Amino acid sequence: MAILLGSIADDYTGASDLANTLTKNGLRTVQTVGIPDPSLALPDVDAVVVSLKIRSVPAADAVTAATAAERWLRRRGAAHVLYKVCSTFDSTDSGNIGPVTEALSDAAGGGLVLVTPAFPETGRTVYLGHLFVGGQPLNESPLKDHPLNPMHDANLVRVMARQSRGAVGLIDLPAIAAGPDTLRARLEALREAGVGSAIADAIFERDLETLGAIALETPVSTGASGLGLGLARALVRSGRAPASDATTANAICPVGGLSAVVAGSCSKATLHQLDVAERSMPVLRLDPERLLAGPDEIAAAISWAGDRISAGPIVVAASAAPEIVSRLQSLYGREASGHAIESATSVIAAELVARGVRRLVIAGGETSGAAVDRLAIPAFLIGPEIAPGVPVLRTVGNTQGDMLLALKSGNFGGEDFFTAALAMMH
Ligand code: ADP
Repeated sequence: MAILLGSIADDYTGASDLANTLTKNGLRTVQTVGIPDPSLALPDVDAVVVSLKIRSVPAADAVTAATAAERWLRRRGAAHVLYKVCSTFDSTDSGNIGPVTEALSDAAGGGLVLVTPAFPETGRTVYLGHLFVGGQPLNESPLKDHPLNPMHDANLVRVMARQSRGAVGLIDLPAIAAGPDTLRARLEALREAGVGSAIADAIFERDLETLGAIALETPVSTGASGLGLGLARALVRSGRAPASDATTANAICPVGGLSAVVAGSCSKATLHQLDVAERSMPVLRLDPERLLAGPDEIAAAISWAGDRISAGPIVVAASAAPEIVSRLQSLYGREASGHAIESATSVIAAELVARGVRRLVIAGGETSGAAVDRLAIPAFLIGPEIAPGVPVLRTVGNTQGDMLLALKSGNFGGEDFFTAALAMMH
């Protein structure tokens, strides 16, 4: 089955956010981890989001990866490809939003690309080409101090122009509010004037719906999850995507097997969720210093789990309170201790899967990324949300067989998140 919408996301968490947004707005969506193998078998889906890590790499590398992803998506039938960037337009004067947008446009035969990072739900709005983050212009928001991509200019027409070969235009709010015909005419005028891409204003979701419908008439667009919302709603409204209450039904077909939670987040919310889980499930608190000292602590954890897991879900946690984390960091360094623990939790997750776990909840963004890499899962079908921003995921093309996962950023979810997640995963 041909997909309707393809997307290339410049980082993994952005890809997950977009995939979840597309699903909530009616598209059956798969998110891949990197560029998939040409032979990857997809279930019936409307959209595929290819997750890349190209936000801060050299522009030439970003272009190479994005164009390879574009070829994969077009081969699967994608008529429109959205380049998913951060809603705060994280980039530098050399890229990568401009170079990738132009390369994708060239690959699709040229034409004008509509660009907007607006995502009103999270406070990102664009007016007269200026990006606002909540109530502040981008250059006065905390993004001005971002460690990798400090943003010193809120005027996105200028920002985009500095990283583009071609001319950059503006599609202002009056042209969007006037409706599709005026908007189409504005795009045509810009195209005739030789403009290659245009920043589009958007303040309300209805602006993104108008932009989404018009963007679908072109092969490429660039934006954040807000534009994804506009594209998804336009596909559903036009009848191209089958409007159905069962968008996520296939994603939660039972997989059976054993179930477990692995936690590496040390956030306040996760620490509290672990305390709550202790009332209803066996919880093993790993000793972080022993974990770093050698493989014994991992072996002990696997053995502990093996004795209990056939009776019901278990929890294995490296998570610790701030004073314990600081002590470990002062002994081994912040990055080194973080990576070493991620590596240990991912080994534990893989060992649990090898012993029959098919329903797995992982707490912690980096912890999840490391575990998914270790398990070599090529893609996920997005299911219903357990908590805002955290959907049930069903593996696609997994060599260990179908699994259900929940990958939770540290601070997400209510206090009973672990039981709530497992109650949705059968
Ligand atoms: P969050 O989503 O809360 O940011 P992450 O998994 O992204 O969670 O980050 C948590 C980091 O803390 C990971 O690198 C993890 O390996 C590390 N970590 C986990 N437990 C400990 C601990 N006891 N001491 C030090 N670092 C730890």
